[in-house]
Amino acid sequence: MATTANRAEAQVGPGVGDFLNIDAHLSEEEIGVRERVRSFVKERVRPNIKEWYDEAVFPRGIVPEFADLGLLGMHLSGYGCAGRSAVEYGLACMELEAGDSGLRTFVSVQGSLAMSAIHKFGSEEQKQEWLPRMAKGEAIGCFGLTEPTAGSDPASMKTFARKEGSAWVLSGEKRWIGLATIADVAVVWARTDEEKNPVRGFLVPTDTEGFSARDITPKLSMRASIQCDVHLEDVRLPESAMLPEARGLGGPFACLNEARYGIIWGSMGAARDCYESALAYAKEREQFGRPIASFQLVQEKLANMLIEIGKGTLLALHIGRMKDAGTLRPEHISFGKLNNVREAIEIAREARTVFGGNGVTLDYPPMRHMSNLESVRTYEGTDEVHTLILGGAITGIPAFR
Ligand SMILES: Cc1cc2nc3c(=O)[nH]c(=O)nc-3n(C[C@H](O)[C@H](O)[C@H](O)COP(=O)(O)OP(=O)(O)OC[C@H]3O[C@@H](n4cnc5c(N)ncnc54)[C@H](O)[C@@H]3O)c2cc1C
Repeated sequence: MATTANRAEAQVGPGVGDFLNIDAHLSEEEIGVRERVRSFVKERVRPNIKEWYDEAVFPRGIVPEFADLGLLGMHLSGYGCAGRSAVEYGLACMELEAGDSGLRTFVSVQGSLAMSAIHKFGSEEQKQEWLPRMAKGEAIGCFGLTEPTAGSDPASMKTFARKEGSAWVLSGEKRWIGLATIADVAVVWARTDEEKNPVRGFLVPTDTEGFSARDITPKLSMRASIQCDVHLEDVRLPESAMLPEARGLGGPFACLNEARYGIIWGSMGAARDCYESALAYAKEREQFGRPIASFQLVQEKLANMLIEIGKGTLLALHIGRMKDAGTLRPEHISFGKLNNVREAIEIAREARTVFGGNGVTLDYPPMRHMSNLESVRTYEGTDEVHTLILGGAITGIPAFR
């Protein structure tokens, strides 16, 4: 039987707070960034996300607000970007995804994929033309790598760019392209007939003749965000449309690594939201005459969630510090993405059970997060792809084929 002292200890326990005092490892500046995004999510996302998700709406009006917070191209320098550190960017992703993975995905596609492709590989003219407007949210970008028959194996892409005089002419299909129907510019990866490193990147203004996009619907995941099929039919571009510094698949992979890094943090944000909501519900909900939080089996679930969120957040911070120090390798990113998304899905599932029947409604967040995290597990490299990257790093033997 619980003593009065036990009960008192449980009541004053840290509960939802920073259990491991991870804040002690963050600077005031970093905590400031996190708190600004956390308040924004509380005021702008939490009151509306149920409706956006239910109606499968991406709230386009939120884009200038993301820009005002400095979230677009947040970790890039110059060209109107905020020039924040990797850890600050990660903390922002964590807070956004505690709101909804679809909104964090917007920031990832715009900043980590489209803007970072232009920033890393674009000409000075391309950077000047697009980056300042994209940082302000006045122009939206998308990133077209995946195709209907080329997902985990982008080297098998069929989209082709042929040279006609000084022009490039692109033809092909892309699938799952985030934001393509609302984008102003698409970063399109295509095969060329160059012998060495045939895959090259192109900036395609979406009003170019021959470019068309269609939303993929209905989806059971990421309902508050947009993914599209893209059709490229003889899209004629000037020579200057090619990203001059990207040669081969190393180009898109470098951008994917930026987005994968954000997911390491973001997934822990979604997990934290599941845990916090389950804890609050368990303290309120009574069965057998007592709050369900008083049952050992429920406490075990909460304790396991707390442990994995603590481990995953420390891992994200460690990887973020390595990124800022310039010592991060792609296999470290695979380690973080594989672990944190896998654990976040497990936490969302366990949190859902705490809500019983109410857990399958949109009134509570775990099942929404769970559905979103199924996409997060698949995009930016599936679990299997990251396992193989780690396996290759450990053994020195690539096992993709
Ligand atoms: C919500 C969402 C948003 C996305 N946004 C974008 C975007 O903005 N831009 C973009 O270009 N793409 C985007 N994608 C595409 C995403 O990157 C791909 O879905 C992903 O790479 C997997 O490709 P696929 O769906 O074709 O699956 P497949 O590659 O067909 O994989 C199917 C299964 O086979 C497994 N598999 C494949 N190869 C191996 C192997 N060698 N060994 C073991 N198992 C293997 C996979 O792990 C998976 O389980 C998005 C996808 C989703 C769902």
